[in-house]
Amino acid sequence: MSAISLRQLRKTYGSLQVIHGVDVEIESGEFLVLVGPSGCGKSTLLRMIAGLEEISGGELEISGQVVNALPPSERNIAMVFQDYALYPHMSVRENMAFGLKMRGSDTPAIDSRVANAADILKIQPYLDRRPAQLSGGQRQRVAMGRAIVREPAAFLFDEPLSNLDAALRVEMRLEIAKLHKRMKATTVYVTHDQVEAMTLADRIVVMNGGVIEQIGAPLDLYHKPASLFVARFIGSPT
Ligand code: ADP
Ligand code: MG
Repeated sequence: MSAISLRQLRKTYGSLQVIHGVDVEIESGEFLVLVGPSGCGKSTLLRMIAGLEEISGGELEISGQVVNALPPSERNIAMVFQDYALYPHMSVRENMAFGLKMRGSDTPAIDSRVANAADILKIQPYLDRRPAQLSGGQRQRVAMGRAIVREPAAFLFDEPLSNLDAALRVEMRLEIAKLHKRMKATTVYVTHDQVEAMTLADRIVVMNGGVIEQIGAPLDLYHKPASLFVARFIGSPT
């Protein structure tokens, strides 16, 4: 059974169709990377999986259950945004605990999950700080920590590193790779960074204008691009 199935998934805004019948079977534990030009529908697809965007057609299944009509809170999925979306008035600890509190988890369980995630992400020293007192990389770790504590069935990332400077981007990319190796959680990761795609992905989905151009392992796309478009995106030298 796939962890997440997209079957003929479609999205229209008014009369504008932005996702045209997308089919993908995402395996359990897989790191799937979505790439494609700006405006091709990557964020829309991710937001539909998260439940932040209504599905216009087709079927979305998560862990064997059709979730088209389920709100985000009932999809057991955690999304990490580019702009972190941390609560500025809360400490790091409170930011990480918030989702679990809303769910009604008891305090010892919350504390232990926060401590565990803080340990994995090396943010224990900052637990009592506010987001404004952190660097960009630290904030990104907190945003990831907030996702980890929920122990979701899948993680969704929308260009999580694009606000960081080049050096930090490399560091966080390695961190994400390590994290995935350790947790083996199903992940859908949007990026426009070719190196991120090639190094993180089990498979890459190349999108163009709301349709999938090609899906495959990084080296397959690199060596056997189905079109010039894919070749340009994956960057095999011509
Ligand atoms: P990407 O993340 O690949 O850059 P998006 O998923 O953000 O692309 O956008 C896909 C298309 O949908 C774009 O043409 C964009 O303008 C359009 N779009 C996104 N959100 C809305 C919205 N709320 N209303 C109307 N059109 C939208
Ligand atoms: Mg986007």
